[in-house]
Amino acid sequence: MQHAAPLIDPFARPITYLRVSVTDRCDFRCVYCMAEHMQFLPKAELLTLEELDRLCSAFVGLGVQKLRITGGEPLVRRNIMGFFHAMSRHLGAGLEELTLTTNGSQLGRFAGELADCGVRRVNVSLDTLDPDKFAAITRWGRLPQVLDGIRAAAAAGLRVKINVVALRGVNDGELFDLVRWCGDQGHDLTFIEVMPMGDLGNEDRLDQYWPLSDLRARLAERFTLMDLAERTGGPARYVRLRETGQKIGFITPLTHNFCESCNRVRLTCTGELFMCLGQEDNADLRAPLRASGDDAVLIDAIRAAIANKPKGHDFDYSRQTVTGQMTRHMSHTGG
Ligand code: SAM
Ligand code: SF4
Repeated sequence: MQHAAPLIDPFARPITYLRVSVTDRCDFRCVYCMAEHMQFLPKAELLTLEELDRLCSAFVGLGVQKLRITGGEPLVRRNIMGFFHAMSRHLGAGLEELTLTTNGSQLGRFAGELADCGVRRVNVSLDTLDPDKFAAITRWGRLPQVLDGIRAAAAAGLRVKINVVALRGVNDGELFDLVRWCGDQGHDLTFIEVMPMGDLGNEDRLDQYWPLSDLRARLAERFTLMDLAERTGGPARYVRLRETGQKIGFITPLTHNFCESCNRVRLTCTGELFMCLGQEDNADLRAPLRASGDDAVLIDAIRAAIANKPKGHDFDYSRQTVTGQMTRHMSHTGG
C-alpha cells in the first residue's frame, strides 16, 4: 500500500517500475552476457530473500506499481517461489503487476506456482529455434528444455513474450521463422539490440551488432508494419503486422534514445540501485537496509538515490567503436 509521497526524479519522471535481480547466477552462459567461467559473488554479499522482501515492499510503499524479477536466472535462486508468494501479497494493494524475465529452463517446474502467485505474464529469452545455435549461444542451455518450459507457461495460463537478441551472422537468417513460430504459438515477440555490456574477451559485440533499423526494414519487405502508439515507459516501441495481427516490439537503446520517458530503476542482488542501465552511477541500499530495522532510513536512502537519476545513457556504436561501454555484466543488473 502506498504510504508516502511518490518517487519523482529530477526530470519529473515518476518512478513506478522496479526491476530486481535476485541472483547473479545462471544455468546458462550466453555469449553476450557472461564469460564461460564466471566468478560469482560470495553468498554473504547477496541480499537474503527477507531483505529483498523488505526492499521491494518499501518501493511498493513509495508508489512502485510494477515489479519485474530477473537475474542472472531468477528461477535458479533457492526458494525463489517463497519470494514470489511473499510479493503476491502486494498485488491489488499498490502493486499492479508481478512478473519475471527468465531463460525458461525452469518454467516446466515453476509455471503453475507462478500463476498461483498472481503472475500473469512472463518474458522468456529465446534467440533461435535451432538446437545447435541455441547451444552455441547459451553454451550450457538446451533448446528442448526451454521449449517445454514455454509450453508449461502457456498451459498454466501465463502470457508469454519472447525476447530475441538480434545477432548478425547468428540469428539474422531466422527472422521470419521466429515471427511465424511466435504467431503460431500466440506469443508476443520483442527484438533487442545487443548492448556493449561486460568485458567478455573474445566475443566482439560490435561484430554481432545487428541494428534493429535493418531488421525492421527486412520485416517490412514481407509485412506491412503499423506503428503502435503504445509505450511502456521503457525502451520498447511496437508495431503490428497487418497481415498476421501480431504485435512486435523493438528495444533499440542504440539506434534510438528512449530515456525521456524512463520510469524505472534497477536493483541488483547485492542491493545496489542503478538509476540508469547505461550509467555506472549507483546507490548502495544494502548498508541502510542492514543498518537499521527502521524503514525510515531505507526510504531516505531510496529518495536520495532517485534524486540522482541521470537524464539518460551514452551508448553509441556510431563511430564503429564502442563508446559509452559498460564494464558491468547484464546479469548484474538483470537487463
Ligand atoms: N536469465 C534471464 C534471461 O535470460 O531472460 C534474465 C536475465 S537476462 C540478463 C535479461 C535479458 O538481458 C535477456 O533477454 C538477455 O537476452 C538480455 N541480455 C543479456 N546480455 C545482453 C546484451 N549484451 N545485450 C542485450 N541484451 C542482453
Ligand atoms: Fe543467463 Fe539470461 Fe545471461 Fe543468458 S542472458 S547467461 S540466461 S542471465
